Amino acid sequence: GRVVSPLADGEERVIEGALRPKRLDDFVGQPRVREQLNLLLRSALRRGRPPDHVLLSGPPGLGKTTIAMIIAAELGAPLRPTSGPAIERAGDLAAVLSTLQEGEVLFIDEIHRLARPAEEMLYLAMEDFRVDIIVGKGPGATAIPLDIAPFTLVGATTRAGLLPAPLRDRFGFTGHLDLYQPEELGVIVRRSAGLLGVKIEDGGVDELARRSRGTPRIANRLLRRVRDYAEVRADGVVTKELTRTALELYEVDELGLDRLDRAVLDALIRRFGGGPVGLSTLAVAVGEEAETVEVVAEPFLVRHGMLARTPRGRVATRAGWEHLGLTPPASLDL
Ligand code: ATP
Repeated sequence: GRVVSPLADGEERVIEGALRPKRLDDFVGQPRVREQLNLLLRSALRRGRPPDHVLLSGPPGLGKTTIAMIIAAELGAPLRPTSGPAIERAGDLAAVLSTLQEGEVLFIDEIHRLARPAEEMLYLAMEDFRVDIIVGKGPGATAIPLDIAPFTLVGATTRAGLLPAPLRDRFGFTGHLDLYQPEELGVIVRRSAGLLGVKIEDGGVDELARRSRGTPRIANRLLRRVRDYAEVRADGVVTKELTRTALELYEVDELGLDRLDRAVLDALIRRFGGGPVGLSTLAVAVGEEAETVEVVAEPFLVRHGMLARTPRGRVATRAGWEHLGLTPPASLDL
């Protein structure tokens, strides 16, 4: 896989567990979401009731799962993790819902991928803490209502726009996670290095923080790759110079663009004259799924002002042309 993919693989999940902040106070960045959540949780604790359902949206690797775990920890409640694709039928969801304990935090990752019948069952569960179990088929089918324990749903999605309004409206709190600032990533890198026992100099921290695509998961992964390099090719200390050399090896450029980011920009400019071009056409040109281009590459290119989403399609900006060392057309006004 890509060294800088914000998606986690299996083994990585284990390492990530060790690096995850456990309490809200240890969670770095996202100050607004953090403060809002803090209020939500404190007031729920005071009232002795489970808080409203929470929807978290934003690109992968920014901490949605981490926040779900923190919510459970702060409430002193158990966490039941599952995901949209794992719930194939309404019956799967009924099985989960009917076995929840009072106050439990149900985490549904990729909630935008929940099947329709399960989604409809969730509406009732979120609103009335009830599920209707359908018994029988056809005209003789009857719904048997079943009360479930009050719980808090934490839903995570990379694409809030895909959630049907009736589902979105049932969340009392929505937090949108943004890409992190380099200073925030610096704090995260330093903390992770401490936990992993990696010796790193300030210059190494800065370099990693600046080149991690605004994403803690990538910062943590690049830190481990740079540590490997430092251990095998040097004396184990991660310096600025060493970080630069190692990142070059992993094809992460000065601004943190990786191969996919550059491929998207390159196709947009060299094949489509800078656009506008539709998302799916662009995805085919780089041999990726449209969702990957949209969720993984674009937010970062947009943040760096290299790509713009316009009603007519994706357009490369002057900064995008210049990043590839090309001269933008004089008529380009983005
Ligand atoms: P996905 O949707 O792909 O699972 P996610 O948004 O749920 O991604 P997490 O799994 O929560 O992301 O976070 C990825 C890694 O980044 C975790 O190992 C965690 O340690 C680290 N991380 C995320 N946010 C923070 C943060 N604010 N402070 C410190 N570490 C963080």
